[in-house]
Amino acid sequence: MPYSLNRREFLKDLGLLGMGAATVAMLGPIEEFGESWSDKPGLVQRPAWVRTVDQPTVEIDWSAIYRFDERNTVRRGWSKYLDAEAFQAVQDRNAVAIYDRNRAGQVGYATRDIALYRASGIGATQSFLGPTNVATPEENNIPRWEGSPEDASEMIRSALRAFGAATVGFVELDENTEKLIYAIDPDGKELVISEEAEIPEETETQRIIPKSARWVITWTVQMSQEGMMRSPTPVGAATTAMTYAENRAIQSRLQGFLRGIGYYGVGEAETNALGIAPAFGVLAGLGELSRLNRMITPEYGPMVRAFKLITNLPLAPSRPINAGINNFCRSCMTCATYCPSGALSTNPEPSYETQGGWNRGGVKTWYENSLSCRNYWAEVGTNCGICFAVCPFSVKDRALIHSMVKGVVGTTTIFNGALAELSRTVYSPGPKDQPQKDPEEWWRLDYSEFGIDTTQGHADA
Ligand code: SF4
Ligand code: SF4
Repeated sequence: MPYSLNRREFLKDLGLLGMGAATVAMLGPIEEFGESWSDKPGLVQRPAWVRTVDQPTVEIDWSAIYRFDERNTVRRGWSKYLDAEAFQAVQDRNAVAIYDRNRAGQVGYATRDIALYRASGIGATQSFLGPTNVATPEENNIPRWEGSPEDASEMIRSALRAFGAATVGFVELDENTEKLIYAIDPDGKELVISEEAEIPEETETQRIIPKSARWVITWTVQMSQEGMMRSPTPVGAATTAMTYAENRAIQSRLQGFLRGIGYYGVGEAETNALGIAPAFGVLAGLGELSRLNRMITPEYGPMVRAFKLITNLPLAPSRPINAGINNFCRSCMTCATYCPSGALSTNPEPSYETQGGWNRGGVKTWYENSLSCRNYWAEVGTNCGICFAVCPFSVKDRALIHSMVKGVVGTTTIFNGALAELSRTVYSPGPKDQPQKDPEEWWRLDYSEFGIDTTQGHADA
């Protein structure tokens, strides 16, 4: 297994911190260390410090949660949060920033960098109902697939991995989790959960999800660490553009697969539509909510994008996890310290207090100032991602110290402050408003396919 620590390795790594036997004893029993478990309903094999739990590590007040209008996010509703003049000004800057920087000779904004960024978003299309070019079993007079929910989860995990997803989890919809489906999609269409509808439908004004479709499939797609380390530049932004483009194909393939076995899946009509992906991801145990107010995974840190789809195929839900990530964020403020726009919270403890209309609330977390983040993007002409790049969980997993940090934070909280400091020292993030690695150097890397290690976190790669 690529990154589970056995007891001997764990103790050896602790030696790097100069810890004595007495300190090690404080950690409590670690005899189980290195044992891994396999969660049949569809999570990867994970080391022992990633524990499944009944409730996510973030506190949720379901009574305060309601179905959000996606157009209130800053991604879609940027103009709502600025007066007309200020919005025009940031838009004007946004339109020219990338080319101004090119003409000024700024590193990372060369013509080839911009071309890479623009080309990375090209790819398949996506839709709510999905493609219809895979025949249903009925059309071929063959039986539809039948099996237990556990078998179905395992099957979907395997199919999604083959289609390009990294980790896969499942959430059953109930009166609470249903609230994580948007009330209104980014294009203004109402998302209706209908008792009467037997199949999903799309009209001029509505997208209709049958109430009988009770299962959410949620998955991650890896982003390139080497790419994101070049944020904020077009080379860095190419990484996220590429991940969204890849997922358009992954979602369509999953919809085609479900159709081919006799079921259906309704997906994102466009990027970020349908529902709140990190929320479903956290409930399904793909990761924990972090100071970024985004999900961090044990396998890839924040270097993923999370996605979701709703299906009528009965699935066995997966469980939330505690890998010490949310707790570690209380001591580590690296992302907030390095954020050039001051968008991330520096409060040690999470809170229910929101930052603006773009936050729905109801979750005890570190709410972000999405408006100052978005305005900063207009300054640099691309998206940013410095916060992802400097997070200690983003470092390539096989680094010895990184394995140690992850192993320790998942086991005990007593070293969190020291480990946060150690992470900053060892990984030495660069200046707060600059790429963490040289964008020019990116063009000389022996890059892997898509810039990711697809064997990371998987036993049978
Ligand atoms: S993307 Fe950049 S500006 Fe936005 S929160 Fe992260 S570091 Fe801050
Ligand atoms: S940089 Fe530190 S505080 Fe921020 S998300 Fe990562 S672990 Fe949490």
